[in-house]
Amino acid sequence: MSQKTTSSKALADYEKEHRALADSLSKIGFLWAGSINHRYLKCGNPRCACRKDPDARHGPYTYWSTKKAGKTLSRKLSVDEAQVLEEWIANRQELKQIVDSMMAVSEQAFDLILQHKKAENNRDQKA
Ligand SMILES: [Zn+2]
Repeated sequence: MSQKTTSSKALADYEKEHRALADSLSKIGFLWAGSINHRYLKCGNPRCACRKDPDARHGPYTYWSTKKAGKTLSRKLSVDEAQVLEEWIANRQELKQIVDSMMAVSEQAFDLILQHKKAENNRDQKA
């Protein structure tokens, strides 16, 4: 059992894994920045229960937030907007997970490739 065979097989596995991840990237839908959150708000009526009782606040209202130049921008969304953007934001998070996985696989492949190079260099020096 040679060390080379074992690590060559592992490198091919990493390439296969990386290729599968790269293929899944092509299936990602539209992307949107920021995040969505739900808020309960007080209204303008001074006699409304929401003024004193947090449980009587109105909502939930759906907001979209993002950071731009260090500032948080926030906007209330309609039901239609929220439906679309929740999905697109989830797509962006999925994209990030795939890219993170590709980075992790690449790091492992890098270690193996360097081992191969080291082994080749040692062999060349002995020859
Ligand atoms: Zn109210």
